Amino acid sequence: MAGEQFVEHARDGDVHVLRLANPPVNTLRTEVRAGLLDGIQAAQREGARAILLIGNGRNFSAGAEMTEFGKPRKPPSLPEVFDAIEQSKVPVFAAIHGNALGGGLELALACHARVATPGAQVGLPEVKRGFVPGAGGTQRLPRLIGLEALRIIVSGEPVTAEEAQKLGFVDAVLPGDLEHAAVAWARENAGRQFTLARHRKDKIEGFDAAKFDEAAKKLTARSRGQESPLGCVAAVRAAFTQPFEEGLNVEREQFTRLVQGEQSQALRHIFFGEREAQRIPDLPADAKPLPVNRLVVIGGGTMGGGIAMSAANFGLPVTIVETSQEALDRGLKRCEANWQRTVSSGRLSQAEYEKRRALLSGTTDFEKAVGEADLVIEAVFENMEVKKEVFGRLDKAARPGVVLASNTSTLNIDEIASATKRPELVVGMHFFSPANVMRLLENVKGKASSPAAIATATEIGKRIGKLPVLVGNCDGFVGNRMTGKRGPQIEKLLLEGCLPQDIDRVMESYGMAMGPLATGDLAGLDIGAAVRKARGTVAPVADAVVAAGRLGQKTSKGYYDYDENRKRLPSQEVERIILDLAEKMQVRRRKIEDQEILERVLLPMVNEGARILEEGIAYRPIDIDVIFVNGFGWPAFRGGPMFFADRLGLKAVRDKLAHYAEVTGDRNLQPTALIEQLAKEGGSFATLKGPAKV
Ligand code: NAD
Repeated sequence: MAGEQFVEHARDGDVHVLRLANPPVNTLRTEVRAGLLDGIQAAQREGARAILLIGNGRNFSAGAEMTEFGKPRKPPSLPEVFDAIEQSKVPVFAAIHGNALGGGLELALACHARVATPGAQVGLPEVKRGFVPGAGGTQRLPRLIGLEALRIIVSGEPVTAEEAQKLGFVDAVLPGDLEHAAVAWARENAGRQFTLARHRKDKIEGFDAAKFDEAAKKLTARSRGQESPLGCVAAVRAAFTQPFEEGLNVEREQFTRLVQGEQSQALRHIFFGEREAQRIPDLPADAKPLPVNRLVVIGGGTMGGGIAMSAANFGLPVTIVETSQEALDRGLKRCEANWQRTVSSGRLSQAEYEKRRALLSGTTDFEKAVGEADLVIEAVFENMEVKKEVFGRLDKAARPGVVLASNTSTLNIDEIASATKRPELVVGMHFFSPANVMRLLENVKGKASSPAAIATATEIGKRIGKLPVLVGNCDGFVGNRMTGKRGPQIEKLLLEGCLPQDIDRVMESYGMAMGPLATGDLAGLDIGAAVRKARGTVAPVADAVVAAGRLGQKTSKGYYDYDENRKRLPSQEVERIILDLAEKMQVRRRKIEDQEILERVLLPMVNEGARILEEGIAYRPIDIDVIFVNGFGWPAFRGGPMFFADRLGLKAVRDKLAHYAEVTGDRNLQPTALIEQLAKEGGSFATLKGPAKV
């Protein structure tokens, strides 16, 4: 039987140990389920006094095997395994170390009792993949711990073994070697009477609907249109209000509906995409990252400070170089204040703060600091002359072989590299603001960038907690280049009938963290104005808003008015500016439907994304989606712009783009050759077989 290979059956006297052995994380693939079933039956036949389930390697189990999703299910199912556990006359215990997540925790919940190592993580993260726990987790956990189960299931956040013990779903926390301690615990406790979770009533009695609904409302307040948190609420509610078997049916209905739904497909697309995007197809296998023990960041402003904090947060010593002691002090203080806020909120210990602070240093001695660097990231003003001057100096001061990276958001990496004698060691490392928070890192490959330089940028990005995605060199790279293309349509929408709040409402109910106009206010409207001035382009509404002294949140007014708590309020002045302009430009205003707003904001980005793929600026469509989800507030449950296009269908995308290009006179919306081709072939971005070369 194939299961034996995936579940080892060991006998420690009369305690039988079944070890899950499906590296690396013991997912519950078919063979594991079969092995468990066989093992449980065999142990009973052989007269075991107790059966202990434990994981090989670093985890108990990370849950279901995601690659089996959407394929015909092979028996035995998890519920069949759980039935065998619950019908067993011999008590079955789970011994948890590392993680017990999703189906892994559900397996443990079906057991007669659970023990765990200190610090083990237990949770039901299904909600984050767009569905609900599907093997009884929503029914058993509430029966073990009551209303607290709602928080764990709706948030999807794991808790530690210690917290789980306090809540009541871990029976003992055992230090030392887990198997050894758990076998002893099992032997000692085998004779006890255990009430299975399914038979427990004490925690679900006296259901208080008002209290439940209030808790549910709080927990789902930030779902922004995501369905799975509501599915979790419905399933958990059934645990309190219906018999166990009927509750299981409610859970199953929610699971089946959600797992096949678009949102969970989108979340899986992003889940796998984030791994895929870190694989660089044309990087030679022997490309090795250069060793980095000290990072030097040039410039301690908004970005430099954030980058330095990221390094220190992940244990990498870092030095900030500034032009004056005053600027340096300001930069270091900002980092300290930021960390202190985290300490005050209880999310960082004082000891951890001190550890991070000790890893961060600063200097105004450029040459000395750079001479000691293993990697330099430049984050000075966005000005080519300044950057070239800095890179010329960096090249002279840095040891040979050290990679010099720029955090520029728009400037040409090749031109920056030309100021050095080591263009092969120059790359872009484009962080996003706030750099200590945002996960995305667009690494930019210049025409001379060597595999070793790219491997180093990738490796360091991962080491300091980022998600590096390699892109090609062009104005705005991938993310900013695509979002920039929304501008003309947003201007037209404002003139034709929308107000800022209409556009932001549609985009936020789609799930965006923040609508485009509110985002503009946050970044500062003068930035866009400066770019337009440099490029000689106009945006009548934006220009008029800036001319009225409305630069965004920093002046307490932009597209919106802001009160003293930075709450945004619709602005009558902006409405008047827009209406006056529309009249002057003889645009007849009309009511614009939400769907049209959504399409006219998103489709220009899709078209530009296709152009980016044609030019080989991104390797794969998934890279673009990963960039938007991790750097631009695109909700993961919507899957990103290219996923959006695929769901609409490329033929519809083509037709809509052509239609909007014609009626709005925006030539940028002419469908690109790639979209024309995919529409004609009935293809999609997901199945695109591109050259995958950047
Ligand atoms: P900033 O003005 O906040 O900081 C720049 C800092 O660099 C200043 O403190 C300045 O004193 C210092 N500096 C200037 N010349 C220097 C030199 N020769 N040596 C040492 N320090 C020097 O600017 P920022 O917002 O942090 O942007 C920095 C870079 O990051 C720019 O290239 C920008 O385009 C890019 N970027 C910014 C954002 C953003 O949202 N702010 C996002 C991504 C990338």
